[in-house]
Amino acid sequence: MNVKLPIYMDYQSTTPMDPRVLEAMLPYFTEVYGHPASRNHSFGWAAESAVDKAREQVAGLIGADPKEIVFTSGGTEAINLALKGAVEMYAEKGHHVVMSVIDSRPVKDVLHRLAREKGLEVTEVPVDKEGRVAVADVQAAMRPDTMLVSVMMANNEIGTVQDMAAIGKAVKAAGALFFSDVSEAAGKVHVDVEAMGLDLAALSAHKMHGPKGVGALYVRRKKPRVRLAAQIDGGGHERGMRSGTANVPGIVGMGVACDLCKGEMATEAGRVAALRDRLMNGILAGCDEVHVNGSATHRLPGNLNLSFAYIEGESMLLGMKDVALSSGSACTTATLEPSYVIRALGVSEDLAHSSIRFSIGRFTTEAEVDYVIGKTVEAVVRLREMSPLYELAKEGVDLSTVQWSSH
Ligand SMILES: *Cc1c(COP(=O)(O)O)cnc(C)c1O
Repeated sequence: MNVKLPIYMDYQSTTPMDPRVLEAMLPYFTEVYGHPASRNHSFGWAAESAVDKAREQVAGLIGADPKEIVFTSGGTEAINLALKGAVEMYAEKGHHVVMSVIDSRPVKDVLHRLAREKGLEVTEVPVDKEGRVAVADVQAAMRPDTMLVSVMMANNEIGTVQDMAAIGKAVKAAGALFFSDVSEAAGKVHVDVEAMGLDLAALSAHKMHGPKGVGALYVRRKKPRVRLAAQIDGGGHERGMRSGTANVPGIVGMGVACDLCKGEMATEAGRVAALRDRLMNGILAGCDEVHVNGSATHRLPGNLNLSFAYIEGESMLLGMKDVALSSGSACTTATLEPSYVIRALGVSEDLAHSSIRFSIGRFTTEAEVDYVIGKTVEAVVRLREMSPLYELAKEGVDLSTVQWSSH
């Protein structure tokens, strides 16, 4: 098979930058180098107009007004600004926040810190076995003093996409702010801040073929006008919400990345979902006892998360070195805890340990998919040949009745 190795199937960790994005960025490193806040000369005006154009492009992807976009150093900073900024600004409104149990790592980390240090009360809403949040559960978790609800639109591990419009409606009815980490959703599935009732939403450029180190926060300006306490003080850039000289080339790149996604999303989603299904069907046809984690229908086109029973995810990755995959979440691979996302689906600890995320996208080819199917099946067969558990199970022994000696 004619494929170039290694093969990249870790698009939900980061994506390769689109060459068209790079091309648009280049002049802003060398020729158009003005400070966008320099109001006194043409160098500044040129930079400012490039940033303004990018603001329109980012807003255009999510149905926002350009004035509602605040540029940051990435998705993580946008999440920090949204949550810390809102909790500080709306302290008199309440000390209670609701989040989904599978919300993104930065969201959980920020809210847990605010709970430890500022006495914020945090309620986690469960998910069903597909990773979906039920509107009724969000409603049940909200209290009169709930100031904000956070539901990640598309999960980075299992790709589950939430019913944002229905959840947003319930949050609005209760009078709380609605925040979402849409970094994995934007550019892959339709994000509409109006239809979804979002007040705050965090985006990251490098998840949609833009550069690393740039992101954006959507901050609603009308009904209601959301205000945030700045978390970085300085020259008062980004309407006082995020001081610091704008990363002009990065912002230009993010704008173009959003524009390309907007134009190509419909066709790209179809092509990528077909490749993902080919990958899934190929692997399922080649080996037994493989479980699909997440939802069959409410799922990002490029995500496939599988648990290979009787095999450690880490061993799979070691056995397939020419394919870039992820076991657990990219953000948690430093620890060997089973993924909290997979565990929240009610999957056993063993199956959680055996989960692998395949994430594909714009530049994935059919030949790459076929190569990875072959390599995966090969690795599974080889590792199971060495697995006494798999052998016992195949002999019909019910493993739950086996007495294990402790050692
Ligand atoms: C990548 C990612 C982030 C972090 O974005 P950075 O730009 O890398 O800081 C946050 N949330 C989700 C869901 C992500 O996938």
